[in-house]
Amino acid sequence: MDKVIGFIGLGIMGKPMAKNLLKAGYNLVVHDVNRAVVKELVEAGAEEGFSSKDIAQKSDIIITMLPNSPHVKDVILGKDGVLEGARPGTIIIDMSSIAPLVSKEVALKAKEKGVVMIDAPVSGGEPKAVQGTLAIMAGGPEDVFDQVKDILLKMGSSAILVGDIGSGNVAKLANQVIVALNIAAMSEAMVLAAKAGVDPEKVYNAIRGGLAGSTVLDAKVPMVLNGNFKPGFRIELHIKDLMNALDTAHEVGVPMPLSSQVMEFMQALKVEGEAGNDHGGLIRFYERLAGVEVRKNHGG
Ligand code: NAD
Repeated sequence: MDKVIGFIGLGIMGKPMAKNLLKAGYNLVVHDVNRAVVKELVEAGAEEGFSSKDIAQKSDIIITMLPNSPHVKDVILGKDGVLEGARPGTIIIDMSSIAPLVSKEVALKAKEKGVVMIDAPVSGGEPKAVQGTLAIMAGGPEDVFDQVKDILLKMGSSAILVGDIGSGNVAKLANQVIVALNIAAMSEAMVLAAKAGVDPEKVYNAIRGGLAGSTVLDAKVPMVLNGNFKPGFRIELHIKDLMNALDTAHEVGVPMPLSSQVMEFMQALKVEGEAGNDHGGLIRFYERLAGVEVRKNHGG
């Protein structure tokens, strides 16, 4: 508990994750380019950090929760970045969802400075980040993972080491493929129900306990029925994950016919200015194709 944890990236996910570490009694120093959220964390008991370098100078362990690969490279390798301030022996836990190859590249640069890194992306979205029940999938040296596992389990209900550095992000890409295709299947099916003149809420209640039931169905159908597309997980971030999945798949020789299609549906929504919506908003693509909306009490 005496160790200082630096936390960089206090967005939809990072903010509640950092708050859970504070609640667990850890000493936290926090930084984000959005200063309002830094203030909020300081009011909750964290120390204020002023740059990624400053965070590194004050911390033993550094957690990053940033949008994508370029942000992680910038924060760790860039000017005033983590590696400019970190002492040898510092541990970086990158919990962002990024390209596995970038995790490897950043970890290699960190190693030159005696800094070790694990990648530990998460699944579960904002609600599980708030509850501290995320699923955490990690990659990196086992002895480092063992040192930080207790910290991870303050943010998640499971933390599994799946392999070497980059493996956590491979697991996360697998997760994101399954989630995207589930949302697409939910969308196609619920649009069918609504256009066929059957109340989609009743269809949802009738099928959710059977084989079609899923975490995605229970998380997204109620939002769709209420016309609530507030993120959550933004479509633009899911496009990023599917692009990373396609790049990684093509590098190792895996065709991704369904993922590439769903990625293009998301691109179409981006053109319509809807990339900031929750990824459950993928249903709006299907709704437009069929000329119907899946909302509460909609009979068709
Ligand atoms: P977000 O955009 O809400 O948060 C990112 C934060 O990083 C922002 O507060 C931003 O100001 C900050 N930031 C960006 N560049 C920075 C820099 N150079 N220095 C300091 N701070 C910087 O994103 P999020 O939804 O919290 O997602 C974070 C990561 O977690 C992404 O990789 C995402 O794919 C993944 N993820 C998100 C969810 C979800 O449901 N939102 C679920 C699982 C995983």
